[in-house]
Amino acid sequence: MNLLTLRSVTKRYTATDPPAVDGVSFECAQGEIVALIGGSGSGKTTLLRVIAGLEIPDTGEVVLNGTTLNSPTRFVPPEKRDCGLVFQDYALFPNKTVSQNIAFGKGAADDPARIGELMEMADISGLEQRYPHEISGGQQQRVALVRALATRPSLLLLDEPLSHLDPELRDSVRTELLKLFRETDTTALFVSHDIEDAMAMADRMVVLRKGAAEQVGTPDEIYDRPANPHVARLFGKTNFIPLGLLPDAPHSIAAETGEGQVVPARPHQWQLVENSNDGSTAFTGKVVSTTNRGAHQEVLLQTENLTLTIHIPGNTTVKPGETLTVSCDLKV
Ligand code: ADP
Ligand code: MG
Repeated sequence: MNLLTLRSVTKRYTATDPPAVDGVSFECAQGEIVALIGGSGSGKTTLLRVIAGLEIPDTGEVVLNGTTLNSPTRFVPPEKRDCGLVFQDYALFPNKTVSQNIAFGKGAADDPARIGELMEMADISGLEQRYPHEISGGQQQRVALVRALATRPSLLLLDEPLSHLDPELRDSVRTELLKLFRETDTTALFVSHDIEDAMAMADRMVVLRKGAAEQVGTPDEIYDRPANPHVARLFGKTNFIPLGLLPDAPHSIAAETGEGQVVPARPHQWQLVENSNDGSTAFTGKVVSTTNRGAHQEVLLQTENLTLTIHIPGNTTVKPGETLTVSCDLKV
């Protein structure tokens, strides 16, 4: 069953600017973890705020747990919505202790056992009497999370939950967050501009651009079969090969130039081959440059009519000016 349904939600802040959220529709199933991803200004925060009831959409519907929260004739205020919101900056009260911050959630103070359990799970037990400035950024984040979860919301909304964390911490925090969501049977919709975070955590993703949902799908679907060149690029460097040169490719998309179809082929989907007779998908070109990326080298290869970015093993020696033949191995 769908816990959350958005139908053609549009939000404009001004009459003259393009809408911040433009006709977005998607669903979250019970227990699902969904990532809203997109670049800066793509409408991610606005969409969360609409769902939380902090912004009123111009048109469209938001339905949570069978209750219509927004429609042309209905607006349920934020405090009456069965969802918790963790703001990007955590929004803790600086002059309240951790305990007081957590108890601030509606009705949360009534359930001390629940709060104790959540603090235990989030590994912040013992910090009750500290003030926000006396704990680390990661701990502040978990206080905000416990505050949001304390009210047992059906849906948890998180704005860039990992953006303040050091790269070394991110992996373990992702794992902890996922564990917490699963243990509390929470459906979560989280905003991220970080593809790695989204890929690692989400069951499904919604890719936003200029306020519109460009693609909705599982991380694998979106990675392997991006809907357009923009989505393809969002997930890392991509070569766009004219379909005529890779006629057997499993997936192709409209070229950005508007001329014909192209096949998105990522740098790691190429390998060196002995010579151009090794298959119809072989391309021969001259090495323009090589960049050491640790485990692999990134090679810029100029063929007759394409500039390819490909990855080759780190221990292979190639030099600019050298001629290479490569072939492309796309997933079916
Ligand atoms: P994101 O979170 O993806 O970076 P936002 O939802 O914050 O994007 O912003 C989407 C668009 O709406 C941007 O163009 C932004 O400038 C504009 N915007 C956001 N908040 C306001 C506001 N309060 N008033 C006017 N414009 C806003
Ligand atoms: Mg934002």
